[in-house]
Amino acid sequence: MTRALILALTLLLVASCGLVRPPSMDSQGGDTFEDDVRGARTLTEAFWQQQFAQSGRTYRPVSDFIAYSGDSGPSCGNQPAVPNNAFYCPLGHFIAYDQTWMDSLWNEMGDGSVYLIIPHEFGHAIQAQLQTDFQLNIQMELQADCYAGGTLSALVSSGALGAEPGDEGELFASLEAAGDPTDDWLNPAAHGTAEQRQQFFVKGFRNGVGSC
Ligand SMILES: [Zn+2]
Repeated sequence: MTRALILALTLLLVASCGLVRPPSMDSQGGDTFEDDVRGARTLTEAFWQQQFAQSGRTYRPVSDFIAYSGDSGPSCGNQPAVPNNAFYCPLGHFIAYDQTWMDSLWNEMGDGSVYLIIPHEFGHAIQAQLQTDFQLNIQMELQADCYAGGTLSALVSSGALGAEPGDEGELFASLEAAGDPTDDWLNPAAHGTAEQRQQFFVKGFRNGVGSC
């Protein structure tokens, strides 16, 4: 990412207001919400499969990818799923998301929200496989943001996703709006401030997942 682009990102972040539907990130454009969710999952897993293979490891795909609405989500151990959330459950090695909530983010903020939330949750699935040894939740969350940034930049460089002006502002706005209420997403002490989260996202975006 060039310095000019970073500056543009910062300006977009400040200017981002969500009134105009931002441009689509996928190269075809005009996809449905379901297409974007499916695409984000497929591309993210393909990326990690490659990363693992490069270091002689075998990536273990998530066992399930579950859409739910409101209170109807799967529980994780004895923790019930809550509305307006997406989460990774290490016990069943699955990802679940409230599709009504994510669909409304997709409508309000564009497809960048989906391309952020899904790779972030896969970041937690990666941590489980690498047995990351962090003591604090905030470290896990910021690393997942960094992984999401690294995943997205790799997908953009490979041509799988097209980044257009506006996308990064979209992603940054999503960083503030989306997350895991179950692990206290809105508490800055748990997930990091908006600034920290953007910082870790940009770190991954610029330097790749290896820097996370
Ligand atoms: Zn998280």
